Amino acid sequence: MIVIEGCAVATVDAAGTEHADGHVVVDGDRIVAVGAGPYRGDASATRVDGRGCLATPGLVNTHHHLYQWATRGYAQQEILFGWLKELYPVWARIDAGTVHAAAAAGLAQLALTGCTTSTDHHYVFPRGAGDLLAAEIEAAAAVGLRFHPCRGSMDLSEKDGGLPPDSVVEDTDAALAATKEAIDRYHDPAPGAMVRIAVAPCSPFSVTPRLMREAADLARSEGVRLHTHLAETVEEERYCQEVHGCTPVQYAEDLGWLGDDVWLAHAVHLDAAAIARLAATGTGVAHCPSSNGRLGAGIAPVRDLLDARVPVGLGVDGAASQEAGELGAELRQALYLARLRGGPAALTARESLALGTIGGARCLGRDGELGSLEPGKLADIALWRLDGLGHAGIEDPVAALVFGPAAPLRLLLVGGRAVVQDGALSTVDATVLAAGLARAARRLR
Ligand code: ZN
Repeated sequence: MIVIEGCAVATVDAAGTEHADGHVVVDGDRIVAVGAGPYRGDASATRVDGRGCLATPGLVNTHHHLYQWATRGYAQQEILFGWLKELYPVWARIDAGTVHAAAAAGLAQLALTGCTTSTDHHYVFPRGAGDLLAAEIEAAAAVGLRFHPCRGSMDLSEKDGGLPPDSVVEDTDAALAATKEAIDRYHDPAPGAMVRIAVAPCSPFSVTPRLMREAADLARSEGVRLHTHLAETVEEERYCQEVHGCTPVQYAEDLGWLGDDVWLAHAVHLDAAAIARLAATGTGVAHCPSSNGRLGAGIAPVRDLLDARVPVGLGVDGAASQEAGELGAELRQALYLARLRGGPAALTARESLALGTIGGARCLGRDGELGSLEPGKLADIALWRLDGLGHAGIEDPVAALVFGPAAPLRLLLVGGRAVVQDGALSTVDATVLAAGLARAARRLR
């Protein structure tokens, strides 16, 4: 048993329960007690002195492209379509070694910034590149994060009216077969699972309607979730109007892509009708504020989505459009963007923390076992240090975490296992990962 005590606790439960001085108790991979004051039980438990710290649920990253860690710093002044066109030929050269190095580095950075569960959306499978999904699943196991890789795909190349070149798209049937194989090999539906697969064709301008439709059928027959990019930019909106005569959300709905088993990355450009359809169908949104800023894509209507009761989580998005890859920092970025759009009351610090935790868990269909500190839930816990220069003296610990700089971690537990201790990774060596990442990036360049 592990007893964390002496810390502030923000449980992010339905009632928003917080303790100024409280405890969280872990037995095996589960939380068994949360409350005020010191813990009076089991004297033989390992005690963690949490004074000066805030315990929150581990953060849930709902959108990423880990391979892009090896292609950071490209196309610095481009919008999405120009950025993609510069990067597709570089991505055509990735292999299993690149993906492993990039994924290990990206997941380590996520762990160091409070993330305990991450998705990945991998949609570039060049011929002969090796087993890319296996490479990133192996990297996640080494770092120790809970992992939801989404088997992506693209089958609409330039010659057929899409955006990507031939070198990075797959044959439709081959993509569907590989997606089915990924589910068969890796998807674990059991409670407490460390790996779950989702089905994830890339975007309206890189995927045929047939692949979208058959991928949705496949996901539903296998009982796994669906993920894709949608309504990210005005150029995508224009593409959908020109090619399909409708908005991206109408297009998605026509293909069976709205539902409570679907979460969409970005959802920046939505009209009132689109928000109502997402709400009515229970479709989730992965909000990626820094990436939207980097590409100048726009500001997602997060306040309107929350008011409509749409599940909203946070995502760092791929590191080629968000070089920092820090999930903790997205709490503040989400708050800033919501306020730039809707004024200073548009999003509170606590709402931002909820986006990064229980909101993300809802997107992944795991709010029953992740996203809040409650007895019976998985012991995925971030213990943030708030007594250093960056946060000392801010009386409200949740405000310190969200308004202040990215907080260092005293401890990060994933299923009760320590992944970060006193600001350093306990599972992998960050220096070795950085050197491997630099080599992979050089090879691609
Ligand atoms: Zn993305």
